[in-house]
Amino acid sequence: MIEVRNMVKSFGGFRAVDDASLTIETGSITGLIGPNGAGKSTLFNVIAGVHKPTSGQVLMDGEDITGLAPHQLFHKGLLRSFQIAHEFSTMTVRENLMMVPAAQTGETLWNAWFRRGQIAAEERALAEKADEVLDFLTISHLTHELAGNLSGGQKKLLELGRTMMVDAKIVFLDEVGAGVNRTLLRTIGEAIQRLNRERGYTFCLIEHDMDFIARLCDPVIVMASGSVLAQGKADEIMQNEAVIEAYLGT
Ligand code: ADP
Ligand code: MG
Repeated sequence: MIEVRNMVKSFGGFRAVDDASLTIETGSITGLIGPNGAGKSTLFNVIAGVHKPTSGQVLMDGEDITGLAPHQLFHKGLLRSFQIAHEFSTMTVRENLMMVPAAQTGETLWNAWFRRGQIAAEERALAEKADEVLDFLTISHLTHELAGNLSGGQKKLLELGRTMMVDAKIVFLDEVGAGVNRTLLRTIGEAIQRLNRERGYTFCLIEHDMDFIARLCDPVIVMASGSVLAQGKADEIMQNEAVIEAYLGT
C-alpha cells in the first residue's frame, strides 16, 4: 500500500531520516521500532505530510503522494493519529469524534463550529457514527465525559476512534502504548486487531513495548540512525545481531 523510496529528511545539516526505503503491505499491521532518535517519528511525519522530505518519494498504491498536505492524504484514507489537542479537552468524547470530518478537511475550528449549528441532519448522522465508534471501542460509558478528564489510555482509544470517523485505509500510530496501563493497552491492541480484520485497516505502529509489537505486528521494521536496519518477524528481529547492537549502542 505504501512504498517509501530513498527518503531523506534533513534538519539543518543533520539527516534525521537518511535514505530510508520500506514498504507497508496492504492488510498488514507493520511495526516500526528502533532506538530513540532513530528517525521513526520524523519518517511518519514525512509520510503523513507534516514535513516535506528533503528528497525521496512516498507512493500509495503506486501513486506518488510525496509532499501532499495532511488533509489531502486524509481524503485518500491515510491518517496519522494526533494527540487530543488542548482545545478539545473541554468537549465531550462524542463531540471530539464529531469534529473529525470537518476539522480534518483543513477548515478552521471556528468554521467547523459555525457549520455545526447550521447542518442538523449532518450532525445527527455524525452523532450516530460517533456512538457506533464508541461502542466498537467498548467505551460507550465515556460518551458524555469531557475529553480532558480521560486517563492517558482512554485518550489513546479516543485517538484511535478519531481514525474510525472516516474511511481510513492506513493508519499511522506513534507510540499509542506510551504510558498506558496494561489493561487499556490490551484493549487498544484488540481494537487495532479488530479494525485490521473486520474493517481492513492497514496499520503502521511505532511502539517501544516489544510484547505489544510481538503480539500485533508482522512484519517489524527496525530503524537506526535514520535508515532501515532490518525487517522481519518479531522473534527473528529480536535475535538479529545488528538490531541488538543498535539498541545496546545507545
Ligand atoms: P524517534 O522517533 O525514532 O525517536 P525522531 O524522528 O523523533 O526519532 O528524531 C530523529 C532525530 O531527528 C533526533 O536526533 C531528533 O533530535 C531530530 N529531530 C527531530 N525533529 C526535529 C526538528 N524538528 N528539528 C531538528 N531536529 C529534529
Ligand atoms: Mg518518536
